Amino acid sequence: MEYKEAYRWGAEELSQAGIEESRLDARLLLEYVCHTDRNTLLAHGDRRVEQEEQKRFEELIARRKARVPLQQLTGVQEFMGLEFQVDEHVLIPRQDTECLVEEVMRFSQDGNRILDMCTGSGCILLSLLHYSNACKGVGADISPEALRVAHSNACRIEKLERPVPWEKDTVRFVESDLFSRISDEKFDLIVSNPPYIVSSVIPTLMEEVKNHEPLLALDGKEDGLFFYGRIIEESRAFLVKEGRLFFEIGFDQGEAVSNLMKKAGFDEVTVVKDLAGLDRVVHGIWMG
Ligand code: GLN
Repeated sequence: MEYKEAYRWGAEELSQAGIEESRLDARLLLEYVCHTDRNTLLAHGDRRVEQEEQKRFEELIARRKARVPLQQLTGVQEFMGLEFQVDEHVLIPRQDTECLVEEVMRFSQDGNRILDMCTGSGCILLSLLHYSNACKGVGADISPEALRVAHSNACRIEKLERPVPWEKDTVRFVESDLFSRISDEKFDLIVSNPPYIVSSVIPTLMEEVKNHEPLLALDGKEDGLFFYGRIIEESRAFLVKEGRLFFEIGFDQGEAVSNLMKKAGFDEVTVVKDLAGLDRVVHGIWMG
């Protein structure tokens, strides 16, 4: 089979299975199995796909038809211009979450200590560390499988730190049910994209999400606010005076999360919209 035949076949299979971005996904999977890139694929459409590659491609197309997310098939997702490893144990980094990272970056200063609560793949913490100077970070998660992914992402990102490599203690990951195993250190910034989907909404999510991404990273319990409440309460003991707490939120949670933060004594509580114009981030300052 030639590249272009394989591509057409894959796109058609995915389209028939109702996959929205059928052509894009087929192309990316073909590039992935053939270790090639878009230009080669398009410019050399008559090049042959090896038998092994074809077999692998067919397997991946079948899995994509079964709604396995593309990123779990290729094993990577780009976020903040960096490539992160992903698997079924971590939420696939979302573009929406870049809004959270960018907002934190507006307030962070050289040398800040950052805690990322519910770190998952580590994409938030690691991009903050990559784009700042001399900051140190702790990533906490209840899932040891997620922490393994975060750790391997730290190694990936660390390789990019040229010409000034990270100090040994730049990043640390802790298996912890929220703050339970965070030692009594204090942070300048606490950031979190906790599970925030209302439990009863989960069955309505896309199959890729509800059947293949970790429920543990999505389910915010009955009102979607469970983790915000806990993190807001507990974070106060871990923030320095004038430290800041940042959350990603769902589009309809701006008011509820702001109110929780104000009630807990945070000042300058602010809701920030994402590129789509939807409420996406809430943050505030802890005056101690
Ligand atoms: N934004 C994610 C989604 O829509 C949910 C992220 C989360 O719960 N933290 O699937």
